[in-house]
Amino acid sequence: RITVIGSLNMDMVIQIDSFPLPGQTVLGGNLDYIPGGKGANQAVAAARLKGDVALIGKVGTDAFGQVLLDNLLKNGVDVSAVKRENVSSGVALITVTPSGENQIVVSPGANSLVNADFVQEHENTIRSAQVLLLQLETPLAAVKRAVELAKEAGVLVILNPAPAQALPESLLNQVDVLTPNETELSILSGVPVQNMVEVYTASRILLEKGTKCVVTTLGDKGAFLCSPNINVLIPGYSVKAIDTTAAGDSFTAALAVAVAQGKPLPKAVKFANKVGALTVTKKGAQPSLPLLDEVEKYPFK
Ligand code: ADP
Repeated sequence: RITVIGSLNMDMVIQIDSFPLPGQTVLGGNLDYIPGGKGANQAVAAARLKGDVALIGKVGTDAFGQVLLDNLLKNGVDVSAVKRENVSSGVALITVTPSGENQIVVSPGANSLVNADFVQEHENTIRSAQVLLLQLETPLAAVKRAVELAKEAGVLVILNPAPAQALPESLLNQVDVLTPNETELSILSGVPVQNMVEVYTASRILLEKGTKCVVTTLGDKGAFLCSPNINVLIPGYSVKAIDTTAAGDSFTAALAVAVAQGKPLPKAVKFANKVGALTVTKKGAQPSLPLLDEVEKYPFK
């Protein structure tokens, strides 16, 4: 089983011709409601790959909260540890221009109430998992407590350090697999990351801080796997990229599914590259997350 701790948001998306200036009003297209949040995206991604997945998180008692829960259930995620609080659900207000540029305002709402005590209440869901999967859209105190509980019980910890922020060594040294993109790797290591040599150097800095393994995602180039005895670029798959939204989420979820099945890391990264590649061939976040069948049937070269 994979236990995910993280955020649930309702993404509200409007297409516009150009961004409004301060004080200006612009007319846009129809409003789309799309379930999102990194925690929910990764839970759904893992469940679509036939992972056995439970999510720990919070939504509001508003109408969005019910829609977010229903969407998880529909995708086969165990939501018995998703609590409804008497506040608003997390929401992201997103405007997108024809060139694909976006502006996003997030209201964390119920996600900001995911604290260490709440995580403690669900310690059994953490301790009984093979893999604990986390991101950084919920308060850091909750992330820390969950990681401590997992390590006490010998559960493998995968942290997707997004959105980017620097992290204390006391957390980094408990992470088994860290999955940054290049921007996140640079912020975590404190050094620039512009080329493969710098990816390697920055990954080594994190290994010295105690992280067991760093898997840096490199877009269409694939991912760089760095552990004390493996340093290898695992190449990506060539696909027609339509929209890269949720590629990082599906990649990390696929890695968790493969590792929970006992696959060695290089094989797990190869599988995650396939899943990430398929995700960029479709528009949107959760709608683009592939099913295991689609991954197995796709004619990857
Ligand atoms: P993020 O979206 O978090 O910045 P990346 O862009 O590095 O993450 O994408 C995550 C993973 O998705 C990559 O490691 C790769 O496996 C896959 N991927 C992303 N973009 C492409 C692409 N254009 N072609 C093929 N695979 C891709």
